[in-house]
This record gives sequence, structure tokens and C-alpha cells, in this order.
Amino acid sequence: MLKPVLLFTLVLAACTRSGAPDLSAYSGEHESLSRLCGNPALLGERLDDISQGQCRIDNPVLVHVVAGVELSTPATLNCGTANTLANWVQNDAQNAVKSLRSRITSMRVLASYACRTRNSQPGARLSEHALGNAIDIGSFKLANGTKLSIEYDWRRTDREGQAIRALVDSACGPFGTVLGPDSDPFHYNNLHLDTAKYRSGAYCR
Ligand SMILES: [Zn+2]
Repeated sequence: MLKPVLLFTLVLAACTRSGAPDLSAYSGEHESLSRLCGNPALLGERLDDISQGQCRIDNPVLVHVVAGVELSTPATLNCGTANTLANWVQNDAQNAVKSLRSRITSMRVLASYACRTRNSQPGARLSEHALGNAIDIGSFKLANGTKLSIEYDWRRTDREGQAIRALVDSACGPFGTVLGPDSDPFHYNNLHLDTAKYRSGAYCR
């Protein structure tokens, strides 16, 4: 009884290891995804308009892949923010990790759309998350296996620490607000990026 099962397992293992395994696996998975916001770098699903009290997004999108980088959890964003994310990943974020001689292949998303106030504090102003303008990223995974975590690698003094701080710096400008562990205790483990515009320029801490 065990033999056919073992054989089947071996055949399966051989299949997944032959050829270009990652790409073939991904392309199959991504076939069902649409190009979003007229941007070939954005793959995912279109969603119905969101309207919950003060929280709203017109033409929201559920982004799965950004410029070839997988999101651990698909992110609900408006098109303006999704496009900003794509441009940042493609141009600035990949450039920021070049010193590690690798590329970002996935990002861990901790939050995107959420109908709540800033930092979920009662009485606080409506969060940019409630308008589809914001995404929180916990970590970045590179093709060479390196993981850059906001929580654990932020204060490292080595190349990895420099790379993650370069990554965060590179978001300032493309995004109007960039909040990391140095901003406040709410961001000890995540990088908050949003596209809210301020007359005084980008706010990055
Ligand atoms: Zn946030």
C-alpha cells in the first residue's frame, strides 16, 4: 500500500523541481488576476466601491502583486496609492536593497484598508487607511533568502540594517507620509506608507 503513495510523492517532487519552478507556479496562480488601474505592474482584483460611514474608496483594487513583488496578504487600496506603491517598489525600493546584491520578491502586508481612526485611537482623526490611501508593511523578503524585518532589523548596524533604513528613506517623497519605528510606539513593527498630501511636503519619521 505504501509503494504507490511514495512513488506519487517522488513524481510530484520531481515535477516541482524541474524547469523554472517558481515562475511556472506563479504564472498559473496569476492567470486569474487582472491588470489593475491601467498599470501592467499591478496584478489583482477589482472590488466594488467601499462606503462605510466616513470610510470610502471609489474603484478600489485588491492588489496581489506589485511590480513582480508578491504581497503576503492582498492589499485593498485606491488606484492612486496602488500606482504610487508600484512606482516605489519598481524604482526606489529595489534600488535600496541593491547593496545586498538581491531583489525584493515579497512583502509582508500588515494592514491596508481599515475603517478606523488613526492608530485606532478613540476620538482621533480618520486614518488614511479608511480611505484606501495607506499600507503597512512588516517585512521584505529577498530572492537570496534574506528577510528584512522592520521590528527586528531596524536598529542593526550591519548591511541589512543599512538596507532596511535605505528602503524606508526611499519611500519618503513617493509617499506623503512615512512612519517607522522611530515615529511612535504604534509603528515598532511596521512601516506605514500613505499618499496623503501636505502643503509642507512629505512627513517622514
Ligand atoms: Zn498604517
